[in-house]
Amino acid sequence: MTDHHADFIVLGAGPGGYAAAFRAADLGRKVVLVDPRTSLGGVCLNEGCIPSKALLHAASLIREAREIADWGIAFGDPKIDLGALRAKKNGIVGQLTGGLRQLARKRKVQIVQGTARFTAANGLNIDGRDWTFDQAVIAVGSSPIRLTGWPEDDRIWDSAAALELRQIPARLAIVGGGVIGLEMATIYSALGSKVTIIELSGQIAPGADAEAVGVLHAALERQGVEIRTGTGVDGLTATSVGLMLSCSGEAAAKIDVDVVIQSVGRRANGAQLDADKAGIEVNARGEIAVDARCRTAQRHIFAIGDVTGAPMLAHRATHQGKVAAEVASGHAAAMETTLIPSVAYTSPELAWVGINAAQAKESGSAYKTTSFPWSASGRNLASGGADGLTKLVYCPNDHRVLGATIIGAGAGELLAEMVLAMEMGATLQDVALSIHAHPTLSETTAFAAERALGTLTDL
Ligand code: FAD
Ligand code: NAD
Repeated sequence: MTDHHADFIVLGAGPGGYAAAFRAADLGRKVVLVDPRTSLGGVCLNEGCIPSKALLHAASLIREAREIADWGIAFGDPKIDLGALRAKKNGIVGQLTGGLRQLARKRKVQIVQGTARFTAANGLNIDGRDWTFDQAVIAVGSSPIRLTGWPEDDRIWDSAAALELRQIPARLAIVGGGVIGLEMATIYSALGSKVTIIELSGQIAPGADAEAVGVLHAALERQGVEIRTGTGVDGLTATSVGLMLSCSGEAAAKIDVDVVIQSVGRRANGAQLDADKAGIEVNARGEIAVDARCRTAQRHIFAIGDVTGAPMLAHRATHQGKVAAEVASGHAAAMETTLIPSVAYTSPELAWVGINAAQAKESGSAYKTTSFPWSASGRNLASGGADGLTKLVYCPNDHRVLGATIIGAGAGELLAEMVLAMEMGATLQDVALSIHAHPTLSETTAFAAERALGTLTDL
């Protein structure tokens, strides 16, 4: 016997881990939550979702203040106090992570600060102390992928460094035009950097609907962001005056910049756990396989969130965390939906759920698309909105909605209606006949449905 025993132990206090811990505590379990960080909330709260959204809010205000000049209202150039902006962002993070600690205390969740590794199927070592446990949840998240062969240089940032807001580089290259790269481009271009995105695939946000991505691509270019798709980085040379990227592909060139952000994806942290000692396999990408109940190969050990692979999103981790806690506590629960919404909080926002046109085509099943351009939305125009699009993929036989993509202001919020509609098995008629308030951007979903049904009067 060891000195330390846990009934239910959760490794990692990110959005997956704290949800699992709190739900298990609410179900009457005695819970231990382990994380090496001094603050709870994992990547999402400390160096991901929340700090990035705070800076994106600042970026959006800067942009709106600039754009309202067209309406005869001029504010002049913003004076950016980087220290104050950093403090504001850190304050928001602190408020949320502090709130989590209070929620843990109220639920009597025991917090252990340390790094856990398995020693056996029911054993762990946490910073030199041995523990036994009855049930465990692995929620250790993911880490940024680093390109190999690059020098160690404090002008090469990952997303965490970029969110520290160390400086506003005059010339910034972003390698990887996925969600992180696009959000960083949105932040730093508003703050004043000359941003170049270098993306290996033929389009930025490669998994999203090509037509909607086209709208975002054009918007970023209007904001002064240079985008080089179909282009890879072969090497990086660091000198005392800057960094030089050698790029090959469609937009081959040598690019001189002051700072580079690497955002080429994230890798699951499964390999750092000695999981084999517990009889759990970790694949070459660091991921741990789970079933719909979030069970690993060991029935008493669950895994959730980024460590279980894509999509690496906070809301997926949270849902899995609740499922794991409920299943472990004898309740019927499962993570069976494939409807996990994605949002890039760019300007404008790009949001999608279900399948897009390319994926529908690839599946070989019958499908049709319908859309409503935001240039015909009164609310969009009256709010100073630019191009936008609401696009639905549906089954031509029963009119069921199979996917939705929205590009435009607040798309992330608007998408929720379509997630609920699709969860409820809604058809185009359901969407079209639900009365949407006028003038709202949410009307665009009903208009897209009406367009397919031939009842639209607004185009
Ligand atoms: P994490 O949040 O990664 O937490 C894992 C925790 O485990 C960490 O605190 C770590 O310290 C701890 N840990 C690691 N090893 C051990 C160990 N051996 N023992 C104990 N603890 C350990 N997702 C969204 O849905 N929306 C967004 O807007 C969004 N924005 C993002 C912006 C950025 C810049 C980044 C990087 C990510 C963003 N994400 C976003 C992704 C989101 O942060 C992750 O999907 C989410 O944090 C995953 O939650 P998790 O609980 O699986 O792991
Ligand atoms: P990603 O996988 O979304 O994008 C990485 C991009 O880098 C891809 O487009 C890929 O083609 C490109 N790439 C890879 N190697 C390259 C190279 N050598 N040169 C140029 N381009 C290259 O990964 P990410 O943007 O780093 O984000 C990581 C994870 O974090 C994602 O799973 C994402 O879901 C999550 N995240 C979500 C949000 C959000 O929900 N708003 C925000 C940030 C991050």
